[in-house]
Amino acid sequence: MIELESPCVHRIHTKKTDVPASYHTLGMTIELKRLLNRLELLHKTNLSNGTTSYVTFDDGWRDVLLIPEDFFYQLPSLQPVVFLTDEQFEERPRWMPLHTLYDWMEEKEYTLDQLSQLGIDRVKIKDWRVDEQHKFLMEHQLSIDERPEYLSHQDLETLRTRGWKIGSHGPEHSDLRTLPSERLRSMLEGSLSLLLDFGAESWLSWPEGRWDDEVAALAHEVGFTKQFGLKEEPRSGTSSLVEMRTLW
Ligand SMILES: [Zn+2]
Repeated sequence: MIELESPCVHRIHTKKTDVPASYHTLGMTIELKRLLNRLELLHKTNLSNGTTSYVTFDDGWRDVLLIPEDFFYQLPSLQPVVFLTDEQFEERPRWMPLHTLYDWMEEKEYTLDQLSQLGIDRVKIKDWRVDEQHKFLMEHQLSIDERPEYLSHQDLETLRTRGWKIGSHGPEHSDLRTLPSERLRSMLEGSLSLLLDFGAESWLSWPEGRWDDEVAALAHEVGFTKQFGLKEEPRSGTSSLVEMRTLW
């Protein structure tokens, strides 16, 4: 069957204060009722067009558990998928650096506009490897004590029994185009074997939505059977190996 629009969701909230303000400013959170309404509408469109959609959730947030258990059973044209980085498959993942930043800002009541005065360039951080991002946080003494609210193995099992699929959000959450190709190849092989051990899908959602035709061909060669990008991210290639999603 033909696939229609596939949405990409990060955070979900029921009240505004459920997630730090930065997620609202960046358009990376959606109110639960609004999400469910939009999904019902998407299902209706799919039914009249004879199409299907993947409903994708990046960054491994537990927020997806807010979605009622039987919701997707009622909407069979929609296939929900969560994408986790290699580290998020571990029992005790670290916070992703930018997630630490947003929570720290919330605690200190800083807005995104104030970051540059603090010597923090969010856009530049996104260009770095994850280890460099962690180093930067340490140097600026930005840390969060609580465990990150990412999906646990038990949560993943719960989702799986509800018909959800699980895929990879990359070996690490950074711009993977910047890596030497042989290095990237072995990292992608690592992500894929993690998925296979876990009984998950051989699917990849490119971190930051950044990819080019070269890395897409490489991921295909390594054995990823599906790849996902983001329409809103200009740093992407043209390969038809990658399915483009829309940020909700
Ligand atoms: Zn992401």
